[in-house]
Amino acid sequence: MRSKIVAGNWKMNKNLEQTEALLAELAGKLPDTDAEVMVAPTYVNLAAAVRALGNSTIEVIAQNMHFAESGAYTGEISADMLLNIGIHTAIIGHSERRAYFGETDEILAKKVKAALGKNIRVMFCFGEELEQRKSGDHFNLVESQLRNALFSLNASDWSNIVLAYEPVWAIGTGETASPEQAQEMHAFIRKTITEAYDAEIAANVSILYGGSVKSGNAAEIFSKPDVDGGLIGGASLVADDFVAIIKAI
Ligand code: PGA
Repeated sequence: MRSKIVAGNWKMNKNLEQTEALLAELAGKLPDTDAEVMVAPTYVNLAAAVRALGNSTIEVIAQNMHFAESGAYTGEISADMLLNIGIHTAIIGHSERRAYFGETDEILAKKVKAALGKNIRVMFCFGEELEQRKSGDHFNLVESQLRNALFSLNASDWSNIVLAYEPVWAIGTGETASPEQAQEMHAFIRKTITEAYDAEIAANVSILYGGSVKSGNAAEIFSKPDVDGGLIGGASLVADDFVAIIKAI
């Protein structure tokens, strides 16, 4: 059985005090849920976030990591550094990393391998841009993003992978994919994984939707059979909004 997951991607928001305050509020308001709840604060506040949450069930995850083990990579963070402060999951391939920091499928494949090699769970993000959706190329694009970064992995690696389908045109724009569009793509993703691996791997991988998920639209999106939760940006920055989204699952 695949897990349900609600993850908050805080991006480049919240200083140390704000991080601690939001986590305290979230921990206090966390509803009873069988979903895994995760938050991804900025790098400089990860260690403090782990400390602040203590033994709360909320998991602190990283927004990114580098593929090299260590060495001359100014500004970068390794898998071991994350493990050392108690982080066991990393977002890899977010569209903002692809668009603004030149992360190609080839780089992302290396990052995924490096993370899995250290037993770090990967939340792999991908999704088409508006032009590709308009030209009907979105299925091909998504398939190639998956193939290039993930389909050379061993079958056993898939137990440490979570997918997050995030159509770029829906991120931070207030425009959400309709629940039907999300379901259609998530079903396509499962079919693609079945073809590349097998039906069991496809059935067991959690596929999150991301892109302008809010408290008002979460329940409908999460009700779709192949949508196993969400990766939430803007709405994860306000405790009550994020808690309402967790309740929606
Ligand atoms: P958004 O961001 O919820 O603000 O659209 C989602 C994401 O980038 O993960």
